[in-house]
Amino acid sequence: MIRTVLVANRGEIARRVFRACRRLGLGTVAVYSEADREAPHVRDADRAIAIGPAPARESYLDVARLLEAARASGADAIHPGYGFLSENWRFAEACRRAGLTFIGPSAEAIRRMGDKTEARRLMAGAGLPVLAGSAEPVADAGEVELIARDIGYPVILKAAAGGGGIGMARVGTPTELPGAFATATRRAQAAFGRGEVYVEKYLERARHIEVQVFGDAHGTLVHLHERECSIQRRHQKLVEESPAPHLPAATRQGLAAAAVVGARSIGYVNAGTMEFLVAEDGGFHFLEMNTRLQVEHPVTEEATGFDLVVEQLRVAAGERLAWRQEDIVQRRAALECRVYAEDPAKGFLPSPGRVERLALPSGDGIRIESGVEAGSVVSVHYDPLLFKLVAAGPTREAALDRMARALAGCVVEGVRTTIPFLRRVIESEAFREGRVHTQMIEQGAFNA
Ligand code: ADP
Repeated sequence: MIRTVLVANRGEIARRVFRACRRLGLGTVAVYSEADREAPHVRDADRAIAIGPAPARESYLDVARLLEAARASGADAIHPGYGFLSENWRFAEACRRAGLTFIGPSAEAIRRMGDKTEARRLMAGAGLPVLAGSAEPVADAGEVELIARDIGYPVILKAAAGGGGIGMARVGTPTELPGAFATATRRAQAAFGRGEVYVEKYLERARHIEVQVFGDAHGTLVHLHERECSIQRRHQKLVEESPAPHLPAATRQGLAAAAVVGARSIGYVNAGTMEFLVAEDGGFHFLEMNTRLQVEHPVTEEATGFDLVVEQLRVAAGERLAWRQEDIVQRRAALECRVYAEDPAKGFLPSPGRVERLALPSGDGIRIESGVEAGSVVSVHYDPLLFKLVAAGPTREAALDRMARALAGCVVEGVRTTIPFLRRVIESEAFREGRVHTQMIEQGAFNA
């Protein structure tokens, strides 16, 4: 049984989880830093508790303060959202020890999949294809060179404890190696407190396609089909959609089957995402598993008609999964555009400041998940996501047209945003035709 849920997060995702709680009649508790005193998510909950200063380390990442907020508010469950502590197995474990239900997978599953080299080993062991590379973190640039000579350039260096595209470096030639190794190690250390990196074959012009999985504690595990997420800057997603366009049926089925086999092999419970890189020839490789709700979960909800967050809450309370695999079909096409306070003309540099004006579109097939309102301040301390614009329709063309109109109808003043850039993506011939790969933005495919 869960009665009251504390959301250890902020912005649009905190609001999204509160909405699901209200649907189930559960009580809600918000937490907020000093910077977020006036934030919309604070007003959305039944109760709100201050947890410290603006820097995330002293508030949204402070386990002791969060547990104390749960105790003080009488919450019996914690939803971590995404980012912050959502993939921190120690936090999940600390919740359990404090007698709280962690709305997500087991601490053990988070720990095993959070170590990317261990995840690669586990999934290879379960029979999933993984890219050639190092089985363990590498000791130095010399070791990378030996591996790269063997598997061939280009290769990519990745943080073993990584996430959010941080600490990743593509290496095209041996001369780039020492510098890239030093940079990747330094960035990984700064971001994750662990400098270890590993090496993988770099796949050119690949597509990032992921599969939503969902398990319950009674042995059922299903998939909710795929999401195409290749439009990325800095290895971070900007546009996502479901179904993935122009995916051969064999590849689509192969991805779903592999995702289910992989997640089952570790007894996965609750919502998770199996990420893959799909090569130009249709071959695919396991990339990583995200053991949490994804930013882009709404495209799956709009495509299938199911509420993932409601189901997270039900399954965390010990209930059986409400869905049968054969009932989960992509009934519609759905797209999501992430609107960030960033300046695409300056390499997507964050553009903090006050949102002076905000007018958002509405209408058939349009869904908005917003963490801000007019007057909100986009802080330098947090991810500058303003809102997510989701458009769905009976066909991909219909969804695209709705998205194009919705983007044109957004008014945001006070900060620079990704909207003009997103409009060029959505209206481009390449995107309309579904010809996408992960390097398109950096190669300037959508430049003005
Ligand atoms: P993170 O956990 O930091 O998000 P991922 O492993 O999920 O890291 O990779 C993020 C993105 O980086 C991928 O979607 C892809 O664009 C790029 N990438 C990662 N590994 C490779 C690779 N081996 N070859 C080509 N691109 C890659």
